[in-house]
Amino acid sequence: LCKKIKSLREAAYRQQHGRCYYCNVAMWLDCPTELGVCTPSIKASTRLRCTAEHIQARTDGGKNSRGNIVAACAHCNRTRHRRRVPLAADSFAGYVVRRLAANRWHPPWVRDRGLLE
Ligand SMILES: [Zn+2]
Repeated sequence: LCKKIKSLREAAYRQQHGRCYYCNVAMWLDCPTELGVCTPSIKASTRLRCTAEHIQARTDGGKNSRGNIVAACAHCNRTRHRRRVPLAADSFAGYVVRRLAANRWHPPWVRDRGLLE
């Protein structure tokens, strides 16, 4: 990860009070223990790792700039970009909100540990 993206990710993380841009889950930057709760396993906690998410995808010419990078949990980031043509950020945000409302975004332990509020 280049230095610039790393610093943009950290700035976005602070600006968003450590919450995912899409699903509002509590994220960790350097170590899962930052969550302050026990997670089922190290592997399970990786979905809540803070990543630099490009609002306009790099493949669409999106830049590594402050205005184009938000902090998103690894699960949201990887799910959005798994599609060959990713949904636009606002469409994806709507999709995540609907899935959250149906309890179909994160596994139960995430809510049970109070990480979704
Ligand atoms: Zn998320």
